[in-house]
Amino acid sequence: MSKYKNRKFETNAIHCGQIPEDKTGAVTTPLHMSTTYKVGFPGDESGYVYSRWSNPTRKALEEVLAELENGTDAFAYASGLASITAVLHLLDPGDHVVAVDDLYGGTHRLFERLMKKFKIEFSYVDCTNPVNFKNAIQDNTKLFWIETPTNPLLKLADIEAIVKIGKEKNILIAVDNTFATPYIRKPLDLGADIVMHSASKYLGGHCDVIGGALIVKDSELAEKLHFNQYAVGGMLAPFESWLLMRGIKTLHLRMERHSLNAMKIAEYLESVDLVDKVYFPGLDGSKVPNNMTMPGGMVSFTINADLETVKKFTMSTKLFILAESLGGVESLLNHPALMTHASIPKEIREKAGVTDGLIRLSVGIEHIDDLLIDLRLAFAAISEPVKQS
Ligand SMILES: *Cc1c(COP(=O)(O)O)cnc(C)c1O
Repeated sequence: MSKYKNRKFETNAIHCGQIPEDKTGAVTTPLHMSTTYKVGFPGDESGYVYSRWSNPTRKALEEVLAELENGTDAFAYASGLASITAVLHLLDPGDHVVAVDDLYGGTHRLFERLMKKFKIEFSYVDCTNPVNFKNAIQDNTKLFWIETPTNPLLKLADIEAIVKIGKEKNILIAVDNTFATPYIRKPLDLGADIVMHSASKYLGGHCDVIGGALIVKDSELAEKLHFNQYAVGGMLAPFESWLLMRGIKTLHLRMERHSLNAMKIAEYLESVDLVDKVYFPGLDGSKVPNNMTMPGGMVSFTINADLETVKKFTMSTKLFILAESLGGVESLLNHPALMTHASIPKEIREKAGVTDGLIRLSVGIEHIDDLLIDLRLAFAAISEPVKQS
């Protein structure tokens, strides 16, 4: 699929779509803010016409995204959720979607509170057993929505096995690859039809840009998505496209360090008495499954204490910043039940394992010693009981 067969990921991340500009020799891709373009004659659509349809800076980003995911076409959107919406726009009223039950909270909200109004039906299954997808198929099932490792419990799905089940029934398979990134796993190579990214996370990598992307390798699907991007107008702006390209140049270096740091933190957490359970793809010492080359930077764990104590822990770290989102160079700490997953009803949330004691870490690329000290001090802060008022 790749245009540059013999070139490696690291090289493509830096060079794809980003050749020095002819006119000035600029090494970094110019930021094209123009909304409209001079055409040769009335009705000339051979080049750029209007930026909602196509923009040179966005196009450069879309080229590098397509290459890194081993796709043919990529589309950049104003946010991850805008890109998910574009996938749902491929469906018709009455269609049914099978999704993982441990979904990103915003995706769940979009499905349940918005798309249901347009008569799209949703079922949610535990992704760890592919048979659950098979059992959830109905006559009107048109899309499998896979997110893995899931958020926040980092459950792993066997993408290839789920693809096999879906293909038998002509079901479109979309994978939210936000947590793994193309450096760790390429779902299109595993048979998925659409890869989706919240580029606001690892692709951008610096917590300074909101964006989303879809990558495909089928020309018919690409045409439908490009039409949608133009018709709906959820495309990414030029400056955000430029920032994302800059972030992507170091994706491989960051993912290596995120993974190493996260592994050491997961091992440390396993040794802490107050910690009940640690969720981390690489923990059992075995090779990380699911065609992932490394575990990534997310670690979740549960603290065996009441909510007040857990809250105190979340406010006791100095380097781990209490904040939503993930995937930046700085370490972040999140309390899913009260933050990212607060929009999911309590019974559903708890049934899926998102309890009041659960904490999710986005492990950054700081020095591991400093991160470990930060967590140790926070555990020390809750080792004395909290006075109930
Ligand atoms: C953040 C996130 C999204 C939504 O992306 P936005 O860029 O915030 O719209 C979707 N899926 C996952 C896994 C995410 O982490």
